[in-house]
Amino acid sequence: MASILTFPKGGVHPPESKELTEHLQIETMPIPSKLEIILGQHIGAPCTPTIEKRSSVAEGDLIADVTKGLGVPLHAPAAGTVKAFEKSAHPIRVTAPSITITVDQEAAPRQWESSEWQDLTSEDLLKKVHDAGIIGMGGAGFPTHVKLNPPKDNPIDTLLINGAECEPYITADHRLMLESTKEIVEGVKIILKILGIKNCSIGIEKNKPDAIEAMSEVTRAASNNEFNIKVAPLEVKYPQGSEKQLIQTITGRKVPSMALPSSVGVVVQNVATTKAIYDAVVLGKPLYERVLTVSGRGISRPANLLVKVGTSVRDIVDFCGGTTPELARIVMGGPMMGFAVPTIDIPVTKTTSSVLFLTEEEIDTRPPSPCIQCGWCLEACPMGLEPKEIGIYVEGGKGNDTEQFGVFDCFECGSCAYTCPAKRPLVQFIRLAKMQARH
Ligand code: SF4
Ligand code: SF4
Repeated sequence: MASILTFPKGGVHPPESKELTEHLQIETMPIPSKLEIILGQHIGAPCTPTIEKRSSVAEGDLIADVTKGLGVPLHAPAAGTVKAFEKSAHPIRVTAPSITITVDQEAAPRQWESSEWQDLTSEDLLKKVHDAGIIGMGGAGFPTHVKLNPPKDNPIDTLLINGAECEPYITADHRLMLESTKEIVEGVKIILKILGIKNCSIGIEKNKPDAIEAMSEVTRAASNNEFNIKVAPLEVKYPQGSEKQLIQTITGRKVPSMALPSSVGVVVQNVATTKAIYDAVVLGKPLYERVLTVSGRGISRPANLLVKVGTSVRDIVDFCGGTTPELARIVMGGPMMGFAVPTIDIPVTKTTSSVLFLTEEEIDTRPPSPCIQCGWCLEACPMGLEPKEIGIYVEGGKGNDTEQFGVFDCFECGSCAYTCPAKRPLVQFIRLAKMQARH
């Protein structure tokens, strides 16, 4: 096995808690009777519906498209009838406009035929990625066709695939790497062709030895004169999967402050997005379903599920046998970077990697107290920032003066807050400081 790599500065080791689901095969959840598809799933302006109320849609039909700015189209996750244009609950924006589809439970699942892609041009492939509505499924929701078409003044020589899955609890990418290994590696080849390069490394934390083995075997067979695809085993350390840390770990290149990975010749994609690219290009299938992890000690039956976009957390709870009496908090996304949600009537989006049902024992409920100047948050920060100073400035009403502490380089990983013995809400302080410093 190749040497185990990690990033040089900061990072933390929260309990991994992956044992609840890492050995559970992906199950396909039955389609619920109603789907709520949020129109703004990506970074950028929300899509505009292209269908009328009461119209019938087939699985995979276009239902909303981009009318301004960056974005990607949306597709019907199942056959049915458009019931309403309403607002749905949203983990960050509280509510967001959506399309509700009443599902036709009698409709047969749509079959997608595979076709050859090797003779298509880079432009043809990029168009397929756009038309399939693909965005970064690891969390940020950036349109993938834009990321795969970086500025020409930044020549790209390396593709990195993020299979680190460093957030505790989540095992969706782990299972995908085991159960869709060949499809992911085919997706890697498609991306390499789009970028016009041959080198790719797939970063996987060493707590997934079976995925490292499976992916290594398939990448070895896939590598030739045209493609050089390798697996890079990574140290288990949070936030190993963040773009800048992954790039420095595998290539040794440091992305400058406020710059994009393309500035050092790298493009990063996550495992689930790479599988979605395979689906779009080889099968012609748009992105309208995803694998997510349902976990925590507050749910009766943890699982890795393939669910339709628009499925509500309530339907997931029912499918997983209900919650336990100890449930204290529901989080969409991981425990470090996800968002606590106040309701189970909230739909899954293309970027929902997990829904966690956490008990009091799994969360820290101690109240915050004043900073004791221990400096642990500085040691934990992978970006070398000064979170304690940012917090003190925000409390003193000087959040607009925090650029000097690198507030805009913070990607809100939560390592500082996790390590803080005073339980100071450092990420909330930082979000506030960013808003104040922008105005
Ligand atoms: S949340 Fe920001 S300040 Fe805190 S450790 Fe992460 S990058 Fe550093
Ligand atoms: S870890 Fe918490 S208590 Fe320690 S210096 Fe940072 S903010 Fe202050």
